[in-house]
Order: sequence, then structure tokens, then C-alpha cells
Amino acid sequence: MRILREWLARLGKRPSPEAAAAGPAPPAAEAATLRRLLGGHCIMCAGDLAGHQYTMFASAVLGGPDPAPAEPFFRALEEQRWQDAAAFQEWEGARDNAEAFAIRCPAGGSAVLVMHDPYELDHGATALSYKVLTPESGRALAEVAEGRRWQPL
Ligand SMILES: [Zn+2]
Repeated sequence: MRILREWLARLGKRPSPEAAAAGPAPPAAEAATLRRLLGGHCIMCAGDLAGHQYTMFASAVLGGPDPAPAEPFFRALEEQRWQDAAAFQEWEGARDNAEAFAIRCPAGGSAVLVMHDPYELDHGATALSYKVLTPESGRALAEVAEGRRWQPL
């Protein structure tokens, strides 16, 4: 959504309320943001990102008068309790959001990137954390992410 707002700003237009309510960025823009945050290469295989896939498996709203509800979201991610993290599926176009992405390497590894997706146009998305998972944690995450739509990076 932030990316959509950027595009619209470039066109000299304001996002409509309908656009703000539409949800997270479309996959192509989302993948471009992830590629930028990853520096264009995979830290698991040290190759470029061809053949790599991602899916957003959890998200939480950060902005607003009370950011405390997001704390269990970050705690679950920190402790790699993927099922608990995936219980968070919140997203608001008019607030800052945190989004957790599973990244799958064709060499067999997996990683999690947590992105801060700010509402303000002049603040780009940043990576809050980026961790390579152990095979065991990666398998647990794959189970939680099963059935989700994986997108090419
Ligand atoms: Zn890789």
C-alpha cells in the first residue's frame, strides 16, 4: 500500500479512500521492496534471488494510540513460534504495519524477514529483522505457511 501511495504521489494524485482500504502492496511491488531490503542476493546460498520465493504469513498494525497489542506479535516472531505469529493477520492502510515474510531458497534454506511498512510517504519500508532459520524451525514455518500463495522474488 505504501508503494501504491508512492506511485500515486509520483503521478501527482492522492490515493483514494478505496485504495487506502484495498490492502497491502500488490505482489510485484512487494517483491521489489523485498529485493531491495535483501540487497539483491540471498544470504543462504549467496546467489542472486532467481528461483527464490516468499509469502507474507503474518502482519500486525503498529500505528495508533496504543502500539502495545503488537508486542505479542514481535515476541512470537523473536521466539520463532510461527503458529502464534500467524494468528496475527491485521493490516490497516492508514497506519504503520509490520509484516513477516517467509523466504524460501531453492538450495533448501528458509529465512524470515520482518518489515516495517510505514504509512508516511517519505519513510521507506525497512527491515526490522532478517534471520536464517535452522532446518527444524524452517520446517515448522513451512507447515504454518502451507496453503499460502508463494510469490517469486
Ligand atoms: Zn538462496
